[in-house]
Formats: sequence, C-alpha cells, structure tokens
Amino acid sequence: MIIVLKPNTKKEDIEHVKEKLKEKDFKPMPFEGDERTVIHVIGDVRDDSPDEFKSIDCVENVIRILKPYKLASKEHHSQKTIIKIGDVVIGNGDFTVIAGPDSVETEEQIIESAKIMKANGVKIMRASAFKPRTSPYSFQGLGIEGLKLLRKAGDEVGILVETEVMDVRDVPIAAEYADILRVGARNMQNFDLLKEMGKVKCPIILKRGMSATIKEFLMAAEYIIASGNRNVILCERGIRTFETAYRNTLDLEAVAILKQETHLPVIVDPSHASGKRELVIPLSKASAAVGADGIIVEVHPEPEKALCDGAQSLYPEQLTQLIKEIKPICKAVGRKL
Ligand code: PEP
Ligand code: MN
Repeated sequence: MIIVLKPNTKKEDIEHVKEKLKEKDFKPMPFEGDERTVIHVIGDVRDDSPDEFKSIDCVENVIRILKPYKLASKEHHSQKTIIKIGDVVIGNGDFTVIAGPDSVETEEQIIESAKIMKANGVKIMRASAFKPRTSPYSFQGLGIEGLKLLRKAGDEVGILVETEVMDVRDVPIAAEYADILRVGARNMQNFDLLKEMGKVKCPIILKRGMSATIKEFLMAAEYIIASGNRNVILCERGIRTFETAYRNTLDLEAVAILKQETHLPVIVDPSHASGKRELVIPLSKASAAVGADGIIVEVHPEPEKALCDGAQSLYPEQLTQLIKEIKPICKAVGRKL
C-alpha cells in the first residue's frame, strides 16, 4: 500500500500517520518529494486497511499494490532504479559490461585480470573469493585473503570490484572490500543472506536460482529491498531444463518480462548460462537485443589455467571482440556502451 500525502503536509501530521501505521504493525517507509511525501507501507495489508488511512485529513490517496513483490514492482515505483557507484551508473539506459575471472586465484592473476578489463573499457571487474562448488574437493576460493587481493587489484588499476557472498557472517567484511556484492544462484532463496544484504549500502547483484520462477526471483529481490537496500540488480544466468547441449538454458524471455514487471536493472550472465566460451558472444548480443541493462561475463588471462570455469571463460582478445560486436546492437536498441 502507498499513502500519498497532500502537498506541504506538516511534519507532525506525517509523524501521526507513521504512528498510526506502526500501531497496526505496518512498517512505514516515507519518501519526501519536492512537493509531497509518499509513505510506502510494508506489511500484511487487509482489504479494509486503505479505507482506514484514506479518512485521515492529510492523506490525499491510498493505493493498494496488488503484486506480491510490492517494492520491486513497477506498480509501486514506475521510475527506473538507477544505481550509481562513483562515476559508474547502471540502469540509466546505458549497457554495462561487468567482466572478470570466475575467482581470485593469485595476486598476479587478479592484477593482470584487472588490467585486461580496464584496457577493454570495462569499469567493473567480477571475481569470487568465496566459491559455491558442487564438490567439496574443488577449489573453494581464497576467502578473506581473496577479498583483500581483489581490493588491491581494483585500487591499483582503478576499476570497481564485484564479488559473491555465500555466508551471512561474511557480508560486512565483503562490503568493506568490494564495491558490489553478489548473491549466487544457489543462494537466491537463502533468506537470511538476503536480509543481511539489505543492511549494507552497496549494490547487490541477485542471480536467479537455477529452478526459480520469475515470481520467486522477484520475491527474493523484495527481501533485500524490504530489509533496507534498494540497489538491487537482477541477473538472469540460465535455468535448468531438459537440454544437455549447454550448461543451462538462457531464459531471455525472463529479461523481457522482468523489464515489464520491475523498475530494477536487469543484466544477463551468458557465461554460466552456456558453460562454453564459444556461446558467450552470441548470447551477449542477444541479451543486448532483448533489452538487458548489461552483462556479467567471465574472462581469464589464461583460461586453460583457471581454477574454476575455464571452459566458459573468454580469452582476453575475445573480450575485445565481444565489445566490438555488441556495440552496433546496443546502438540499434538505443543503448550506449
Ligand atoms: C559465478 O558467478 O561464478 C557463479 C557461481 O554463478 P551462479 O551463481 O550463477 O552459478
Ligand atoms: Mn563461475
């Protein structure tokens, strides 16, 4: 439910509405505009709730949000969410390329990676320090040491850094070292982690679970926003289907519907969708064409030596080729790269 107050409502009247909401166990989230204040109301809205608040003097209108993902829906917030980190902007209509190796492996590898990304005009480097691996015997990531190396590479080369968090206990330290945090596909419904991500200020890339419906995906985003962090970037990364010719099936229709349903930026991960580097460029182009706000791509200085996801990691020169080939598509759909 959204409560729109009359223009120039006094502070004490706003407080009165907030108090009334709290009495009914609602959580008020006021937004002060130039002319009027709008209060977004979180909680279990009953059929009679809007009428009750409509009768307050300073209330101009009460709008009931019907979508279950209230804060993530366009119904609630028709303007696009634009995410700014320093001079980098996501969701403003430009096309953002996030690229980097699957993981932080060594100091040399991550600094070399940062240089490759920077040389290709990439402003955000991805690399994981905490790794969700199917096998407990596979490389598990460098942990906090990896976060430190990632930050060092970002600072030395002058590029923003993005990394995955798997454990609620690691959220504060990861937020200290990285500019953007990621919830991986396997943790999309780790609700405690989502709530913790809501408490930090940095943007969160939320990946779609491999068997998650669009509604479940948006409800996961809702957890982060309702916990206080509105800077959520949705990421389609392929879903499990009967097909075995590639790692996952890239659901580009999800991008189209998400752009209709939500004000949040939507990006695509063609690397985890395909599992094969030769599919990454075509899928990136398709992502731009369908209306994505960007892509997150795996690139490694020496993919054959990568400790994880080498087969889907681009060679540095393929990143250059990707950028070159995607530009005309971005232009055709009115996006700047
Ligand atoms: C990753 O980005 O390295 C990753 C593990 O992706 P996902 O969570 O989509 O499988
Ligand atoms: Mn990976």
